Amino acid sequence: MQCATEYLIRSGVGRENMGKITINEEYCKGCGLCINFCPQKLIRTANQISKPGYHPAELCDLENKCTGCAICAMVCPDVAITVYREKKNVGEKK
Ligand code: SF4
Ligand code: SF4
Repeated sequence: MQCATEYLIRSGVGRENMGKITINEEYCKGCGLCINFCPQKLIRTANQISKPGYHPAELCDLENKCTGCAICAMVCPDVAITVYREKKNVGEKK
């Protein structure tokens, strides 16, 4: 069962922008730039090794804090990050 706080966090109620990123492991060389630049500190180094032989970056955003600011994508030298952004009205349920 979902608690009220979890519902608010997951539904984005009260937030104007929600974001999500995907990281292409084939391109990522694990340089860590996106990890250092994410203002929400949502990106970390993955434990697994990618096909090219690096520990790639991965998103860890359990509380849906990504704003879709795209800073991570802008600093990535290997164009490995795609940003998706959804604009929501404050108070909108879904
Ligand atoms: S879009 Fe912004 S908040 Fe989301 S993971 Fe990238 S840098 Fe962090
Ligand atoms: S900046 Fe790009 S290449 Fe560097 S760790 Fe992040 S996704 Fe990988």
